Amino acid sequence: MLLSVIVPCYNEEGSVRLFYEETVRALGDRMADTELLFINDGSRDGTLRELKKLCEESVHCIRVISFSRNFGKEAALLAGLSHARGDFTSIIDADLQQRPEYLVQMLDFLLAHPEYDSVACYQQERKEGAVMKLVKDAFYKVIDSMTDIKIMQSASDFRMLRRCVVDAILSLPERCRFSKGIFAWVGFETYYMPYVVEKRAAGESKWNFWKLMQYAFSGIIAFSDKPLILSSIAGIALFAISILLMLVVVVKTLIWGDPVAGFPTLCSLLLLLSGVQLLSVGILGQYMAKNYTETKGRPMYVVKEELESGHRMKETGEHRE
Ligand code: UDP
Ligand code: MG
Repeated sequence: MLLSVIVPCYNEEGSVRLFYEETVRALGDRMADTELLFINDGSRDGTLRELKKLCEESVHCIRVISFSRNFGKEAALLAGLSHARGDFTSIIDADLQQRPEYLVQMLDFLLAHPEYDSVACYQQERKEGAVMKLVKDAFYKVIDSMTDIKIMQSASDFRMLRRCVVDAILSLPERCRFSKGIFAWVGFETYYMPYVVEKRAAGESKWNFWKLMQYAFSGIIAFSDKPLILSSIAGIALFAISILLMLVVVVKTLIWGDPVAGFPTLCSLLLLLSGVQLLSVGILGQYMAKNYTETKGRPMYVVKEELESGHRMKETGEHRE
């Protein structure tokens, strides 16, 4: 198998058929040596029904891995990578925001450039609101300064990987997965290819501002222990300041006999200190929570059903069960 195309799907009943048709058109003859690996991430609409129909009707190699519930896109990507059989594996969204024509470009590039191990598409012009742009820029600056890995800004998980990269990614056993970080962590030579994001073919985005914030925060936790160091530094700094303050109070009382005044000062100091303490405990708690998830060792996803089309290879007429 030359190419595996992983397509995570969550409530994409309106998109999957369109995606299939567009991909078949874009890949042309290459479809004979390509598998489309749809991961149904516990969709609650008719996505699985549509995928089953595609499996029955298609002359191409279509595989469907259906989860028992929604486990999230990260789990879907992991399932895709561990089931992919191709020499090259690509990840693409089902909603046609990422055009399948780029799959051909990425494949051609990797075939022509053996020195590169993966191609990652990035948005040259990001079509987002100003606030979202600002928040994302800030996130990349923070993660850049807090970790040793270099995450290319605007690079998505729309990628094509050689087998060696897929194997390296699969060798990471962690459950709290942050793909953008993992792609960067495994290294290898990556070529960044510009692409233009299209409008969604159907349905709606599963991300909102808070989900993105959570994802960003867990990304920082997964790849850096600097937040812990920062909270320790804050603790040390506040300790030093409080010693200074105490000295000032003692000296003032001894020399000028000033009574200890300042209820508001006391209040604000108390609030500041308990705020910093709670923040630090919160940060610590996040690491413990991730640790807890890792030690439980639960699988990242549960597969309920697996299907495969009895496709016929175009050139040979061979029929695979
Ligand atoms: N997706 C998924 N599981 C989820 C959320 C999303 O498999 O829990 C899939 C979704 O079906 C789509 C891709 O991940 O194919 C990207 O999701 P979406 O289009 O909502 O993200 P956006 O393009 O808005 O960043
Ligand atoms: Mg999308």
